[in-house]
Amino acid sequence: MTERNVLGLSGGRDSAALAVFMRQTYPEMEIEYFFTDTGKELPEVYEFLGRLEGFLGKQIAYLNPDRNFDFWLKEYGNFLPSPRTRWCTRQLKIRPFENWIKDDLNAGIKVISHVAIRADEPARSGMQATHPNLQVRFPFREHGLDKPAVIELLESSGLGLPKYYDWRSRSGCTFCFYQQKIEWVRLKKEHPEAFEEAKRYEKTAIDNGSPFTWSDRESLVELEHPDRIAQIEQDFDKRLARERARRPINPLREGLNDIEIDEVYGTADVAASCIICHK
Ligand code: SF4
Repeated sequence: MTERNVLGLSGGRDSAALAVFMRQTYPEMEIEYFFTDTGKELPEVYEFLGRLEGFLGKQIAYLNPDRNFDFWLKEYGNFLPSPRTRWCTRQLKIRPFENWIKDDLNAGIKVISHVAIRADEPARSGMQATHPNLQVRFPFREHGLDKPAVIELLESSGLGLPKYYDWRSRSGCTFCFYQQKIEWVRLKKEHPEAFEEAKRYEKTAIDNGSPFTWSDRESLVELEHPDRIAQIEQDFDKRLARERARRPINPLREGLNDIEIDEVYGTADVAASCIICHK
């Protein structure tokens, strides 16, 4: 073997669509699909990956970190990860991937990592190649595929969108700090046990002097107060109505004009999420 083609799945829409696209466009290419499992993912993510495995007719390699979230949380003094100190991605997502390919890279095997950045995301950059034998490619960009094309790929393949899209627009950890307020509210409704777990982590962090809460400027205990929930829901509905009114509907794309939660909040930019966890 002189070359490996790998494709990281986040449990999200775009990377799944890329797997579909690669299979349909390059059926001869031997691709290894992998998922870096933090152990804190939504059950809907595993369900979606199971369906994707069925479509691909191939097992997805689950890469588990050698040390779990709790271990690293202690290592980082019980400080919760945050957009500025994203130790979770480094330790639970990037390290397991690097460990998975490092022997081959060092043995001179070229590893090509296919990443699901779309043609309509010119500002985004993928994981930087950290080894001379690692190459990162962006097939959607190379083929000019945008968001509607990605949704079409999933719909036409019969896979559809992951089920959590009904209430949240990102894969990744249940307690991901990139979540919008409305996603926390919905997490509480959909997976109350995961919300309670996030509250416990937050309490330990605050007790240990962590300056971060999961959600910006308020604790989950404050956020879950019924008045605050009602306020967050009303605010979201207003923003959504405004965003809908602002957007021209393309009749050729009917049904594909869904607005993502980050777009409603105006944060669908590079800083708003993480390629590895949410793509
Ligand atoms: S999903 Fe969020 S919390 Fe989980 S590893 Fe990624 S950035 Fe960190």
